[in-house]
Amino acid sequence: QRFSRQPDVSGKLRVSFEFFPPKTDAMEARLWETVKRLEPLSPSFVSVTYGAGGSTRERTARTVKRILEETQLTPAAHMTCVDASREDVDQVVGEFVDMGVKRFVALRGDPSAGVGAAYRPHPDGYANGAELVGAMKRQGDLDISVSAYPEKHPESPDFATDIDMLKRKVDNGATRAITQFFFDNDLYERYVERARRAGIYVPIVPGVLPIHNFTQVANFAGRCGASIPGWLAERFAGLEDEPQIHALVASAVAAEQVLDLMERGIDDFHFYTMNRADLVYAVCHMIGIRPRSGTTVEQPAAA
Ligand code: FAD
Repeated sequence: QRFSRQPDVSGKLRVSFEFFPPKTDAMEARLWETVKRLEPLSPSFVSVTYGAGGSTRERTARTVKRILEETQLTPAAHMTCVDASREDVDQVVGEFVDMGVKRFVALRGDPSAGVGAAYRPHPDGYANGAELVGAMKRQGDLDISVSAYPEKHPESPDFATDIDMLKRKVDNGATRAITQFFFDNDLYERYVERARRAGIYVPIVPGVLPIHNFTQVANFAGRCGASIPGWLAERFAGLEDEPQIHALVASAVAAEQVLDLMERGIDDFHFYTMNRADLVYAVCHMIGIRPRSGTTVEQPAAA
């Protein structure tokens, strides 16, 4: 089924939101404002990232717990296995399960020496995302999402190797893949075709990154193997000191991407929120995702 650019009135579209665990009290306050503002949009789940090597172990757990206790939202805990023994990983997963978490996003994680450094598994650890998924499935009937890379992961020598890893993750029990962010929808569509040809039939949900700061995104993209099309750089050119115009352009760019994906038949979107609500809220509004009736939108407190 293809969707038109009409806002969705049928209620078929689904969205999920990704947050990162805050480091300071001020960041925590901002995250919470964002969570409360996005909650009425009824996402299927909200996910909370996990620092590679367990660097955010407590903060991720605290954030997930607060979502469980103070909202109607379904949290998904991200989990990584880099620099951790199997025992440690199993224990953290068990703690989340005891808390009542049933959804996870399972990632290998980046090497502690930095993105691009050679990956070395912990001597007693899980070697990759696929092994981690298998281990998590042994802990119960959990809903596990994994990563997918429309432009292939930087460590993958070719697409065949990349798709093979995705297949292993799905064979081990993952029921959904969420993509790295991308800005060229043709790349995503080609990747999905490759995956389907390889016999991977789980949803491959596009990860959409509204651009809060183009310079930062361009730097980060290079490190995680996502390309920045020339036309995109051109749209943000000269807006470094124009935050309001930058935000308006970012909203238009993200809405355009999502509306085009809808025309290609996509009905499920994962948003990298960067713990900020406005751009995501605007895009959701554009596609017809509105607050549940009976709920009010909480406005952020005046600064
Ligand atoms: P895997 O799926 O295990 O492998 C990634 C790719 O590397 C594979 O496609 C495979 O082709 C290649 N590869 C792996 N091993 C080999 C090998 N031996 N030989 C050849 N090729 C190989 N990071 C965090 O730290 N915390 C998070 O919360 C987090 N959340 C994320 C959420 C999403 C939706 C995405 C897309 C990424 C996230 N990341 C996160 C980043 C992720 O940890 C990194 O991209 C990491 O480098 C790879 O993890 P993975 O699970 O994708 O790895």
